[in-house]
Amino acid sequence: MVWSPQIEKEISSSDVVIVGAGLFGLTCANLLALNPKIRILILEKRNHIGGNAYSYFDPDTGIEVHKYGSHLFHTSNLKVWDFVNQFTSFNNYRHVVFSVHNSQLFSMPVNLHTISQIYGQFLGPDQARARIQEDSMIQLEVDNFESKAISSIGKVIYQSLFKGYTQKQWQVNPQELPSSVFSRLPIRFNLDNSYFNDDFQGLPRDGYESFFNSMISNERIRLLLNTDFFDFKEKVKKQNKIIIYTGPIDRYFEYKFGSLGWRTLDFEIEKLNLPDFQGTSVINYPDLDVPFTRIHEFKHLHPERSYSASQTIIMREYSRQAGRLDEPYYPINSAEDRKKLVNYRNLQNAETNTFFGGRLGTYLYLDMHMAIASAMNLVENEVLPCL
Ligand SMILES: Cc1cc2nc3c(=O)[nH]c(=O)nc-3n(C[C@H](O)[C@H](O)[C@H](O)COP(=O)(O)OP(=O)(O)OC[C@H]3O[C@@H](n4cnc5c(N)ncnc54)[C@H](O)[C@@H]3O)c2cc1C
Repeated sequence: MVWSPQIEKEISSSDVVIVGAGLFGLTCANLLALNPKIRILILEKRNHIGGNAYSYFDPDTGIEVHKYGSHLFHTSNLKVWDFVNQFTSFNNYRHVVFSVHNSQLFSMPVNLHTISQIYGQFLGPDQARARIQEDSMIQLEVDNFESKAISSIGKVIYQSLFKGYTQKQWQVNPQELPSSVFSRLPIRFNLDNSYFNDDFQGLPRDGYESFFNSMISNERIRLLLNTDFFDFKEKVKKQNKIIIYTGPIDRYFEYKFGSLGWRTLDFEIEKLNLPDFQGTSVINYPDLDVPFTRIHEFKHLHPERSYSASQTIIMREYSRQAGRLDEPYYPINSAEDRKKLVNYRNLQNAETNTFFGGRLGTYLYLDMHMAIASAMNLVENEVLPCL
């Protein structure tokens, strides 16, 4: 979009300009609008709100498609849960994931069922622990993803279900990844296969778009879609408004210290003339001879909905290194990235009236509930005191 008298008017008649209509930006807008004196303008470069959590209803089948991969809402933060329940109710979906290795189906995250499947016999909790201990006997002096994985789940499970997946997901040897990446994955010596441990889980009953629209229904919130902040950054800055920036931090400073590393995803969507393709919402494919990492089948996220068409929609997910023109999804966070980030954060601290937030603005992987909680903190502790 080019600079126009209309945009100039929109900006001059607002108190806060928010760059990005993802969950971070929408939460900030909603909370700021509780103050009747504050007028908010959101600039979003895409043609929709909701950032990566956006979904749409396929007109032929009525299936809700998560454009950027399945998004499951989960949190144990009561403040966040109460906040989102003002805008939507949630269904009772509980996420489970499976993995296909050598044409066999395994339960994820690793639990007693997975361990029994891998060793080909039922193992009780103590037997499973003993078996894994036996299989993780090798002494590894180093601390990385691979050594952490082998010491936690043994060599066989690591090589069958994690090694290839990790290589495809990050395109690096798992020995080069920090052990913290593995530490985030749960391992259970019981038969609980729920993917998340959180107290509150589900999907918005009427879809994500309706949830997001309801967050910004206040008439003092204005939204301009298809509007890239960088088409007129200097003109916006000149107007001396408070800016909440949720785009990539390196882009804001014109890549002065180089690009921060991100992984991006390519999605291949297919409509099939079958009522059900895989019987569940997400299946992982860890084997290196399969080019994709996961298949999503969105129908299964809403078992409470009925569909008239006997069709289904699936999406294959492929992972690769992001270039500057690609959508950034997962921060790589290498030692070099961390050095660049320190430099960018120093520049950020010198900016006046501009706050950085969200996963792109902070270069942190944030789940939806974390993005909301972090936006709540920013508004309460930093933005409101400036207004
Ligand atoms: C594949 C994938 C699956 C995920 N699954 C889950 C899940 O199951 N559960 C969960 O809780 N979380 C999940 N997440 C994380 C979730 O997507 C994020 O928590 C959430 O998107 C963060 O919101 P945000 O507002 O910080 O960022 P974003 O959603 O990325 O929003 C940022 C917005 O800023 C806009 N923008 C950027 N630059 C500019 C500019 N120059 N001008 C104007 N607008 C701009 C972008 O277009 C975007 O809309 C997943 C993430 C990915 C990548």
